Amino acid sequence: MILKNIAVIGAGASGMMAAIAASGNSRVSLFDKNDFPGRKLLQTGNGKCNFLNESDPAPHFRGSLSDSGIVSDIFARYDRDHILKLFSSFGLLFHIKNGGYYPRSDSAASVNDILIDALKERHVAFHPRVQVKGIDKKGELFFLDLFHLNNNKRSKDETPFDAVIVATGGKAAPKTGSTGDGYYFAEKFALSVARPLPALTRLLSPDPFFNDNTVRALVSVKLFIDDSFAASSTGELQINAGGPSGICIFDLSGRAARALKEERSCYISIDFLPEFDDAFVFSLLNNRVGRIKEEDPPTALFTGIFSERLSVNICEKLENLLFKGRAFHGILNDTLIRDITNLIKNMRFEITGTGEFAVSQVTSGGITADCLNPDLSAKNVPGLFFTGECLDADGDCGGFNLHFAWASGLTAGLAAAGAVG
Ligand SMILES: Cc1cc2nc3c(=O)[nH]c(=O)nc-3n(C[C@H](O)[C@H](O)[C@H](O)COP(=O)(O)OP(=O)(O)OC[C@H]3O[C@@H](n4cnc5c(N)ncnc54)[C@H](O)[C@@H]3O)c2cc1C
Repeated sequence: MILKNIAVIGAGASGMMAAIAASGNSRVSLFDKNDFPGRKLLQTGNGKCNFLNESDPAPHFRGSLSDSGIVSDIFARYDRDHILKLFSSFGLLFHIKNGGYYPRSDSAASVNDILIDALKERHVAFHPRVQVKGIDKKGELFFLDLFHLNNNKRSKDETPFDAVIVATGGKAAPKTGSTGDGYYFAEKFALSVARPLPALTRLLSPDPFFNDNTVRALVSVKLFIDDSFAASSTGELQINAGGPSGICIFDLSGRAARALKEERSCYISIDFLPEFDDAFVFSLLNNRVGRIKEEDPPTALFTGIFSERLSVNICEKLENLLFKGRAFHGILNDTLIRDITNLIKNMRFEITGTGEFAVSQVTSGGITADCLNPDLSAKNVPGLFFTGECLDADGDCGGFNLHFAWASGLTAGLAAAGAVG
């Protein structure tokens, strides 16, 4: 049997998985700018690597590959059980926490190490510190234009490749090596790219509520675009200088980024006590009012309800919106308590931007579905495949993006090697 020669550009989660999948009946060369594979993978899940989720992943995705059904087809083929079996066969022990799958060691290095072992066992040739600068196609074959970072020399690789898998990631966390090179390759071959935007990142707000008094709170957040409800998320909010952060904000950030790009207006509404209805919160505050003494500070209204730091921020907001310089004690009648209840359950903040790529976990946008076959090959360039975050598909926090990296890597790797389809 004549073995195929396959090049995989990028040794992140999707590139490693594509190389492993392709290696069954091909000779695979894996190129990366970094010294070692999986540099970003080591940072995932705060160094613990949330690599899958218990929930059905497809509804957690956005972008043209999600709208076209490519994402759900890929997840149907390589669902959670399939990926778990694969990782188990590589020797990974795992456990579940809050619906997310993590290595039993709680160390992302365990996932990276077993993938590196699997690459070695399958004789994948890893080329560290090599940046692929260009891809040429001559007839049926591909040739790579390489830049060797060790000696700053450029060379045209003489090796002809039957297929090339581009797994260069998006633009998020560029220090890990993902600087958007896949979009450049795609555009050179006339594929379309939806403008890459930061996602799973913080939001920016000019509201003075977001000050240096860093606070965390369990909340529910709704995103409104042009005054219409767009999405909601529940979880830990981080109040930082310049805007809100935390997982519940991350999950709304991709939608906000797209809306802001289109110059649409955005605001969020935060419910600081999402598990209680208005009537309960009203009675809670009424009860507190009966206990407050004249000498108490305004934050006494929230004793036992919010942390001291959150109470300070909320009181500043109440002062600006409700009290406006009036003494707080003695004026808390039913109408004001109802207004305070409304504010706590529905505090609005204008959103004017999102965090930069440097502080984002993923990229929204990328190579679009219309130019791809279901096996992730380019419709107009047989043998050229794209996988992982360089594609126009971005998921919520919680292991969904890594599931897409594994599943899309398997799809492209097996198809490139001719093992399926
Ligand atoms: C801090 C952080 C935490 C995260 N936590 C989680 C989590 O817990 N769970 C989850 O599901 N997702 C998480 N994510 C998202 C997830 O890590 C990514 O979606 C996923 O790793 C993307 O994999 P990829 O292989 O497509 O791209 P990447 O991991 O970005 O890999 C791309 C690789 O290509 C290389 N490369 C790029 N261009 C070239 C070139 N021209 N030549 C050679 N090499 C090149 C880069 O050096 C890089 O190694 C997190 C992301 C970040 C930044």
